[in-house]
Amino acid sequence: MPELNLILFGPPGAGKGTQADRLRIDFRLPFISTGDMLRANVKDGTELGKKAKEYMDQGELVPDELIVAMVAERLGEPDAQDGFILDGFPRTIDQAEALDKQLSELKRHITAAVLIEVPDDEVIRRLSGRRVCVKAGHNYHVEFDPPKRDGVCDQDGSRLIQRDDDKPDVIRNRLEVYHNQTEPLVDYYDQKGLMRRIDGTRSPDEVHDHIRAVIATLRLEDDV
Ligand code: ADP
Ligand code: ADP
Repeated sequence: MPELNLILFGPPGAGKGTQADRLRIDFRLPFISTGDMLRANVKDGTELGKKAKEYMDQGELVPDELIVAMVAERLGEPDAQDGFILDGFPRTIDQAEALDKQLSELKRHITAAVLIEVPDDEVIRRLSGRRVCVKAGHNYHVEFDPPKRDGVCDQDGSRLIQRDDDKPDVIRNRLEVYHNQTEPLVDYYDQKGLMRRIDGTRSPDEVHDHIRAVIATLRLEDDV
C-alpha cells in the first residue's frame, strides 16, 4: 500500500490533539506533534527546550531553524519511513518548503493536508477550558469533553492541569500568529491540490469520522 504522509492543520484549539488521540488508534502511523516534542524538551531542560520556552510562553513561534532540524531528525527515524501524521508542523512557508525539500530528496511527498476549521471565538472558548494530563498530554475540556473524574486523566490516571500558554493574553497572541504566519499555508497546499477541509465545529466524534472518511478516500485514490 502507498505510504500516507499527512499533515493535520488548523488554528490552536481546533482539536488536532484530540483527533490525534483517536487517529493513533485507527492507523499504525507515528504521530509527530512539534508542540509535544517541544514541551518534552522544556520539561527535560535540554538546550532546545531552554531556547524554545521563551517563545512558547509568549505564544510566538519558535525560530524555523530550530524546528526544522528537530522535525528532520524525527522524520529520519525508522518508524517514520512508511508514513506519518504531522501535527503543528509546518507553521510557516519556510518550514513547508524545508519539509518538501527533505521529502523530495528521499523521493517522498506529502499525501494531503487536513485543515480542521474553527472560528476564533470558538478557539478562545476551547483553549480557555482546555485541560491536559501531566503525564502524556491527553486533552480534555472542562465543559465540552470532561474527564470521568474531575481533574484526573481517564487514560492514565495522572493529574490534569492548564497549560501556561492557555491564558487569555497568550491565546489572543497565538491566534494572531496563526492568522499572520500559518494561514498562508492554506493557499500553499491548495495550490498543490493537497488541502482537505474539515468542519471542526462539530463534535469530536463527528470530526473523527470525517477525517477517517477523507483518509479512506485518499487511500482509494492512491490505489487507482
Ligand atoms: P496549539 O495548541 O496551539 O496547537 P502546539 O502545542 O502545537 O499548540 O504548540 C505550542 C507552542 O509550541 C506554539 O505556540 C509555538 O510556540 C511552539 N511550536 C509548536 N510547533 C511549532 C512550529 N512548527 N514552529 C514554531 N513553533 C512551534
Ligand atoms: P489543538 O491540539 O488543535 O490545539 P485540542 O485537541 O487540544 O486542540 O483541543 C482544544 C480544546 O478543545 C480541548 O480542551 C479539547 O477537549 C476541546 N475540543 C477538541 N475538539 C472539540 C470539539 N470537536 N468540540 C468541542 N471541544 C473540542
